[in-house]
Formats: sequence, structure tokens, C-alpha cells
Amino acid sequence: MKNISILGSTGSIGVNALDVIKSNQSRFRVVALSACRNISLLNTQIKQFRPKVVSVVDKEHARKLEKMIDPAAGTQILFGSDGYREVAAIKEANMVISAMVGSAGLIPTMAALEAGKDIALANKETMVMAGDIIVKNAKKMGVTILPVDSEHSAIFQCLSGNRHADINRIILTASGGPFLNIAQDELANVKPEHALRHPNWQMGPKITIDSASMMNKGLEVIEAKHFFSVDIDRIEVQIHPQSIIHSMVEYVDGSVIAQLGVPDMRIPIAYALSYPERLRRTGPFLDLLKVGRFDFFCPDLKKFPSLKLAYDAGRAGGTMPAVLNAANEVAVTLFLKEAVRFTDMPKLIGEVLSCHQMKGTPDIHDILEADRWARERANKIAERMSVTS
Ligand code: MG
Repeated sequence: MKNISILGSTGSIGVNALDVIKSNQSRFRVVALSACRNISLLNTQIKQFRPKVVSVVDKEHARKLEKMIDPAAGTQILFGSDGYREVAAIKEANMVISAMVGSAGLIPTMAALEAGKDIALANKETMVMAGDIIVKNAKKMGVTILPVDSEHSAIFQCLSGNRHADINRIILTASGGPFLNIAQDELANVKPEHALRHPNWQMGPKITIDSASMMNKGLEVIEAKHFFSVDIDRIEVQIHPQSIIHSMVEYVDGSVIAQLGVPDMRIPIAYALSYPERLRRTGPFLDLLKVGRFDFFCPDLKKFPSLKLAYDAGRAGGTMPAVLNAANEVAVTLFLKEAVRFTDMPKLIGEVLSCHQMKGTPDIHDILEADRWARERANKIAERMSVTS
């Protein structure tokens, strides 16, 4: 029996993870859950999985939740950063699923690492912001970090049984998102509701906007660099609109190993939970005869400059990726509120990056300070970009 704690249980990854756990109740038990504000879904999850501890964003939501739950369930309700830390480090957990949205996931994930928990990492922002520190701490604590992101799960599987020294190239596939086939000059007028319509994957709003701008792929390049300790220039992004090949590894002898599957996040989640074993799938299997064909294209960096910004920040290292991530989070929030245009997002992020005084080997405080600085700067720059002005 593996005891699981989930940071971010009401998001898309959390919900899918609980679905995997529900289908495999003889192997997994939920000991702790955390959410932000969605207490009605959290309440349903508490009834179903009876965790020992849950945590929410603040006292107000904790009080509301307290009134909703059955006191006989014996679930303790916590809130705020202390609450998240408790969910991350709870004694009973063997593994923590890190699935909060954005930079908020960094500190709880660090807490899980320091408590010696194995981690199923879905929160890529943690790796983007502080990859060097995360990887170093994981080694020091002897814990395993397993990728949940479908591309990284694919690469992890393609690397299995092979020598790291024999890697020639990593090919990270991208769906291309909802704007793959629209003209570049139409991008300035796209609305959040268009960007939120992803062709292949059902996900939360932050990652769906990131997919539309291809920043998601940029963040994934930086994530892959840390996860697999490969030079960023050995990681190549290719558009594969069918989203069936989840990524590939090319070896020095010319062999390319790919991982394929239907685009369903429950597959990489299940693999991270059960590794090295595999769980029997409950959904439909891949039918290549139905898929019929695979296409591949080179990403258009003029149309999607966010991908280039991410490569540059990842190459520079230090505090640059944390600044990229923070500026992007501000940009996405403003775009969802229609305060900036879709095409303003990379401009905003680029400006913030260009005025950042980078620290080469930051500690966690430097990273948090870079994050704070970048948010403040991004908001200032956005004021003069505002679509209403
Ligand atoms: Mg992904």
C-alpha cells in the first residue's frame, strides 16, 4: 500500500490522479489533499477518500469547509503556507503529487523533498524556477522525482535501459495548440475563450493559455534540461498535432525511441504512481489504425516568440528562468482578464527579462526575490500596454 498526498487535488491533474487512485484502491491510499478555493469539490473528495489532513488557501475557506464536512470523518482542516507544508510533509505519505498551479507549488514541493518524500512532479514551474536546487536536494535526500508531464514521462520511459552518454538529442513534441493554423497577424485579436479551446488536452486555464502561446513548451524544455541533465541545445521541439507521440530520444547510433499513447493524463500519472510497475488501464487503448498518420513541423518562432524567450532564459540559467516564469504568470493572468492582448504576452515577458540583473548561482531566497521582482516589473510594464489605453 502506497500512501499518497496531493498538492492541488481539485485541479485537472489532481482530479485525474484521484481517478487513477479510485481504480486502484488496493494499492493506494490518500492521506492528505490540498486545494486553493474550490472547497465544494474538495468536500466531495474528502467524503470519497477520507484523508487525514486537508489544506486550503486561507482561514476563510477553511472555516467554510469545516461547516460543510462531516465531523465524524475525522479530517483535520488547515490553511495557508503552513497548511500546504503539512500536506507536503505529512508523516504517513510515501509519495507526494505536486500539482499546484504555477510558482505557488515551489515551497510546498521543497517541503516534501526535505521531508524525504518521493515526488510525482506535475508542477513544472517548480523545476523551471529552481531546477538546480530541486535536483541537488533530491540527490541529497535520496528521493526520487518522477515526471507527470506527458512529454517528460515519455522521455523518462525512452531513456530507460539506455546510457545517458549515448543520448544525441531529445525531441520534445508539441501539439501546436489552438493557434497552429491561424495567421500570425490574427493573433493580436484572439480572445481568452479561443485560447482556452485546446484541440487535444483537457487542462486548467494557466497551462491551456501557455499551450496556446507555446510558453508551455518553453517551460517544458527547461524542465527537461533539469530532469534529464541534458544541455538545452540538445532538446528540440517539434510540432506533432496528433499528440500521440509524447516525445522521443535519439541516440548516437541513429536509433530513435518514442513513447506513444492516447492523450490522457491518467497514463503518465499512473506510471509515476506505480513506477516501475504498470497499472492496467481502464480507458480505451491506442488505435493507430484510427489515428492513420503522424505529422511533424518545425515550430514558428516568429509567431510564437515565447518559445524562443524560454530557450534564451534556460540557456542563461541562474535567476532568468524564475523571471521568465513569473513574468509569464502575470502575462497569463492579465490576458485572461483581457487587460493585455495575446501578442502582448511575449513582449511583456521579453521586456522584463531584458532588464533583469541575473544571479548566476542563486539560492532559494534569490529565486523568490527574482520572482517577486519580475511580478512587480511585469505589472508596471503592463500598465502602459493595457488594451483599454
Ligand atoms: Mg506537457
